[in-house]
Amino acid sequence: MTRLYQLFQASTGVSTDTRSIQKGNLFFALSGTNFNGNQFAAKALEAGASYAVIDDPQYANEKTFLVENCLQSLQALATEHRKKLNTPIISLTGSNGKTTTKELIAKVLSYKYKIIATQGNLNNHIGVPLSLLQLKADTQIAVIEMGANHQGEIAQLCKIAYPDYGYITNFGKAHLEGFGGIEGVIKGKSELYQHLISKDKKIFINQDDPKQVELTQDYPNRISFGSDPTSDYAIHKTTNNNFAQIKIGDEVIQTQLLGLYNAQNAAAAAAIGQYFEVPLHHIKEALSSYQPSNNRSQITNHGSIKIIMDAYNANPTSMLAALEEVSQLKADQKTIILGDMFEVGPTWKEEHQTIVDTLKKQAYTNVFLCGKQFMQTDLPEQFCAVAETKELIPVLSKKDFSEQLIFIKGSRGMALEQLLPYLKEQ
Ligand code: ATP
Ligand code: MG
Repeated sequence: MTRLYQLFQASTGVSTDTRSIQKGNLFFALSGTNFNGNQFAAKALEAGASYAVIDDPQYANEKTFLVENCLQSLQALATEHRKKLNTPIISLTGSNGKTTTKELIAKVLSYKYKIIATQGNLNNHIGVPLSLLQLKADTQIAVIEMGANHQGEIAQLCKIAYPDYGYITNFGKAHLEGFGGIEGVIKGKSELYQHLISKDKKIFINQDDPKQVELTQDYPNRISFGSDPTSDYAIHKTTNNNFAQIKIGDEVIQTQLLGLYNAQNAAAAAAIGQYFEVPLHHIKEALSSYQPSNNRSQITNHGSIKIIMDAYNANPTSMLAALEEVSQLKADQKTIILGDMFEVGPTWKEEHQTIVDTLKKQAYTNVFLCGKQFMQTDLPEQFCAVAETKELIPVLSKKDFSEQLIFIKGSRGMALEQLLPYLKEQ
């Protein structure tokens, strides 16, 4: 056991942020491009940290632990802890739906097991180790989300977490810039499958996705789910009034999640639940009671106005999938508010134009577009476009949205949720 592991075991947990530090935490002085984390070590100790892990000897004192590199030490500590406890780990990656699927899986499994899952969206090279360090001796399963926007990142996260089970939600047009196109996305996300090729590990695959089937043909250890009755877990996916629904045998599970893509997320959670022998009535209870949070397809009523808030993130695949669903929803008048999609790369103009062309075909009462990329597309006159989200405030404030269905989606950086207070009945 390393000395650092002893300090971790004697601590009340790990912290990387002096603002949220708890008494007895082991503090890691992580540095960013614009700041030197070592400078916060003294503050962390003052705030109650048991020790501060630093990588600059200048800041050393009797309560610091000097390492070569704080980030690498955090990652190595997480791996040491993970290996020591040897808890089965299910890890998820994919372009869209990771967090939703992770939360659904966690909810299903928690009916039978003591589990931990990634908190929120802590899915990167810092978030994954922090998630692993939440493992306790009595944890029976961990559900870990892995995010990436470049090649090699999933492989690196696998070397930290050593997952035993894996699932890729989908291959979509997200982070195209960093991955180098859709083929790059497939290659990058498949690093999870490559890590899991050995017989003692398992991958869950969506049998209805030909690309996943093709990529895993030679895998001896795949567990499939899908509409095909030959799947290991036959699960039918559909929507009821545009809310995702799945059927397992005669059992119908109605979710509160919008869109067919969420039926896939629910199906994955149901298959994983069945594999781990969670009783079907518990799977049903878990999936039908789950409500999304954090501006992910959240549906709220404001008087006569119904708002679907999906301002958490956006990319070409999720934007088109969501518009397809919204276009089918029953409402006399619909307003669409979209923000730019970031990180699309060289094809950004075409991808934004595709969205504009789709909107033209779908005939909405009002279309508002925010962002410099949408501004540069070929826009019909009746669409209102502005470069910055806040410029839309005076425009929306003057409008009466009574009886309307309003759909809001854009990349995180557009922060479209700030428009919510201005969507009113006049
Ligand atoms: P991030 O990369 O930010 O971690 P994520 O992969 O965790 O995203 P979620 O936060 O679960 O994804 O969902 C974000 C949005 O993606 C949803 O609101 C929805 O619009 C869309 N989405 C969810 N599941 C799917 C899916 N299976 N296929 C396509 N789009 C999806
Ligand atoms: Mg996520």
